[in-house]
Amino acid sequence: MAIEERHSVLHSWSVQADWRAPTVVGGRGARLLLADGGSILDMSSLAECSNLGHQHPRLIEAIRAQAERLCYVSNAWGAQPRAELASMLLERSGFEGGRVFFTLGGADANENAVKIARQASRKPRGAVIARDRSYHGATHLAMALSGDSRTQQQVDAAAFNVQHVPPPYAYRCPFGSANADECGERGAHAVAERIDALGADAVAAVLMEPNAGTNGIVAPDSYWPALRRVTAERGVYLVADEVMSAFGRCGEWFAWQRHGDDARPDMMTLAKGLTGAAVPLGAVVIAQHVAARIEHEMLYTGLTYCGHPLACAAGVAALQAYAEEGLIERSRRLGAQLFADAQRLQSRHPVIGDVRGGHGLFVVLELVQDAPADSGSTHAPLAPWPQTPPALKALVDDAMAAGVSFATRGNLLLLAPPLVIEERELADAIALLDTLLARHFAPSPV
Ligand code: PLP
Repeated sequence: MAIEERHSVLHSWSVQADWRAPTVVGGRGARLLLADGGSILDMSSLAECSNLGHQHPRLIEAIRAQAERLCYVSNAWGAQPRAELASMLLERSGFEGGRVFFTLGGADANENAVKIARQASRKPRGAVIARDRSYHGATHLAMALSGDSRTQQQVDAAAFNVQHVPPPYAYRCPFGSANADECGERGAHAVAERIDALGADAVAAVLMEPNAGTNGIVAPDSYWPALRRVTAERGVYLVADEVMSAFGRCGEWFAWQRHGDDARPDMMTLAKGLTGAAVPLGAVVIAQHVAARIEHEMLYTGLTYCGHPLACAAGVAALQAYAEEGLIERSRRLGAQLFADAQRLQSRHPVIGDVRGGHGLFVVLELVQDAPADSGSTHAPLAPWPQTPPALKALVDDAMAAGVSFATRGNLLLLAPPLVIEERELADAIALLDTLLARHFAPSPV
């Protein structure tokens, strides 16, 4: 008989007593296969990480072959897949001459990015500027970086010398601008003002998600290039947290690439799609000019499993799969389609106040209180952030019963399926969403 985990595992981001979930025993493409013989279409790539779908044959083969050759060797020794993955990442990102520090996931990639930025900038306790409504992980420094009400309750960001600035949240622009690009420019200006107030000599880095994040902000196009300008002018490192946005999620290998070479950050952090989530792995990629500053110094950081060969072999196979199967372009094409579908839903369901994203397979639907269809959205949130409204929870439960899994965050529905999802599956998921939005959010009769 199968063993249940409900009473033995401490589940993350859950009320333990309420945790209920089916057991997954396998996967194929964008589908998860369940113990009871059923299957679920995964519209969120699990934690926005299984970009290559589930049980991609290429990943399985690479992990199997590496396990037969060499499972583990520490950083005190060389390992072929580690070397191969590092050079592939440097080449793909145009960071030639730079270096890669491998971690186990996203939070520790961000932690180590801060340590490296502080060492290389000669500002060993320098401030780091991050953003409200961001998420950078759940270890302590990563929590301090996250402008996330769930994690801010548990840490004192000031104790980590982390400061937050308002996000370029164009739908509810904190700078009072009605124009998205202007909101983005003002967001970058707020960073400039904060650096100037602290003094550039006291700021080690600005660490931000370049385009989109799981807290549902999608930066206007103007934001990242402006941020690059203001940090470069002030000699402050810009670190792109690409943990979620890379590997096709935002239609490029790395989301900043949409803005061209001039928008290249000084460092970037990766995880999730780096191995298609088949094995845990994160990375800090640092540019040549940063690497040069620490080349002859002791690097006081490390993890037993830095650059684990099994994970790196999975990473090499994942990068080959993205390239050879044309998945980055596919994400761009299907993302545009998904965005158009979501806009069609918006025209039919006044509860959808905003649709954003769509550069790749990442589209956010923000739900607001009912507004008459002909007078536009009220913008009034359906529930105070970060609560999830009961009707949205009910919608997600009904979707699950119908065989489709959707991710939510507060008032947001995040559509982020694996890049291998079939067009028919995507269309079916949208049709189901249409039905369920009508069921759970029927406009009240006037
Ligand atoms: N950074 C971003 C942008 C993320 O979305 C996440 C996870 O969702 C993290 C960092 C943390 O990554 P991990 O959960 O692998 O520690």
